[in-house]
Amino acid sequence: MQLSVATVLQESAARHGDRIAVVDGDVRVSYRTLWREALRFAARLRAHGIGPGDRVALLLPNTVDFPRAYYAVLAAGGTVVPVHALLVADEVVHVLEHSGCRAIVTAEPYGPVARAAADAAGVEVLHVQTDGDDEQLSGAEPRDADDTAVILYTSGTTGRPKGALLTHANLVMNASVCAQDLFALTPDDVVLGCLPLFHSFGQSCAMNAALRAGSTLVLCPRFTGPGALELMVREGVTVFMGVPTMYHALVEAADRDERRPALRMAVSGGAALPVALFERFETTFATMLLEGYGLTETSPAATFNQPAFGRRPGTVGHPIWGVEAGIADAETDDRTVLLPDGEVGEVVLRGHNIFAGYLDDAAASAAAVVDGWFRTGDLGVRDAEGRLSIVDRKKDLIIRGGFNVYPREVEEVLARHPAIAQVSVIGLPDEQRGEEVCAAVVLRPGATDSGEDIVAWARERLGRHKYPRVVRLLSELPLGPSGKILKRELQKECG
Ligand code: ATP
Repeated sequence: MQLSVATVLQESAARHGDRIAVVDGDVRVSYRTLWREALRFAARLRAHGIGPGDRVALLLPNTVDFPRAYYAVLAAGGTVVPVHALLVADEVVHVLEHSGCRAIVTAEPYGPVARAAADAAGVEVLHVQTDGDDEQLSGAEPRDADDTAVILYTSGTTGRPKGALLTHANLVMNASVCAQDLFALTPDDVVLGCLPLFHSFGQSCAMNAALRAGSTLVLCPRFTGPGALELMVREGVTVFMGVPTMYHALVEAADRDERRPALRMAVSGGAALPVALFERFETTFATMLLEGYGLTETSPAATFNQPAFGRRPGTVGHPIWGVEAGIADAETDDRTVLLPDGEVGEVVLRGHNIFAGYLDDAAASAAAVVDGWFRTGDLGVRDAEGRLSIVDRKKDLIIRGGFNVYPREVEEVLARHPAIAQVSVIGLPDEQRGEEVCAAVVLRPGATDSGEDIVAWARERLGRHKYPRVVRLLSELPLGPSGKILKRELQKECG
């Protein structure tokens, strides 16, 4: 079957041509113009010899150049390889060489890194150019639904980054299910996409879903709470999407700024949303906050708290349409035997959103997917109504003196402490117990509580093996570019 992610924009250009597709600062680009610009840049890519099956890297900020280049590469029949904006030149060289990219498309401030990497890897550097003669424009190159549309590199916490192969079918389905079933987006919606577009959450759930629905996508190159609040009020944003640290920054900003956007809904994903933060956000912004769950390898949306199915804070809801979730025994490799509801095990997923494997890594691909079931590396549990809760990442589990401690559970309790603004719980190496539970804490402005005060408070509310015996007070938590807390950095800082 023929299918291309480029048709997401092409179709909307045909249906909603005059509507604004993207807002980037003062720049407002209509659907018709954005598609024409993508086709013009596609023509340039073709002139550089780039055609069906060729891979092109994008090292771009969150500006309108990202969708221009993304849909241009796809329209030319190529495969997009988004590059993580925080990589240093050597790491970019690895991505370019490993994926066999023909060119890298870049813009400031990433020019120097892109040029250094491109020189070392011997690939061409291109800038987004959208001028040209419309007479000679050809449409999008037809692709097979199972062809690779995008190669997304994982963050590489376990060894070198791996290139997850996402097909046209994976991404078109995810954008469509997000736009229609999950967010019910319409051309009247204005979606704020602060999430980095090189990451799957921002790319699929914000960019592709908004453009699939004919909504307006508001871009924001650098997220700050006050900046996002200002932008939401100014642009009439109806749907906000973000990771939990962004929700934290927004409620803090709202303490100092009483303006509120008329939000229809907000979507959280990418990391666990503490229930205390969920409640604070819904009260402050008088809107519905819906949490979902997924991974790069699952395109990414896999489960979602859909209001129609009865949403429940602290859970990640039901599998999305066309996707199944199961709980497998985390101790064995056998994924064919699924555990009953209520038992904690490894979350496995099956359906149209599962990636096609890791580029040139047959062993990792075979280990990741068995009988169509993708092993997520997350521990979870399913309730009697089929709702999934993520207990924690397998690799974040703390084993203290032989007892399992789930950091997430400890974080949920500490998040209710009146002086704590943000908290992340990690294991620190301990000679006697193997690991010790440590809470890295950012206090609210003006709070004077000491680490000992917090230990004493936690001790009254958590089991003896669970409460943090070490509390480190920090001025901020280390965040990745997608706004997720970097636990491994934190371990170095607190150790
Ligand atoms: P890594 O490569 O180390 O996994 P990453 O965080 O960049 O890094 P992603 O694919 O973006 O990788 O993230 C997927 C992970 O995010 C999931 O495996 C899960 O641990 C976590 N996650 C996503 N959504 C949620 C959620 N709603 N609740 C809890 N955890 C979540």
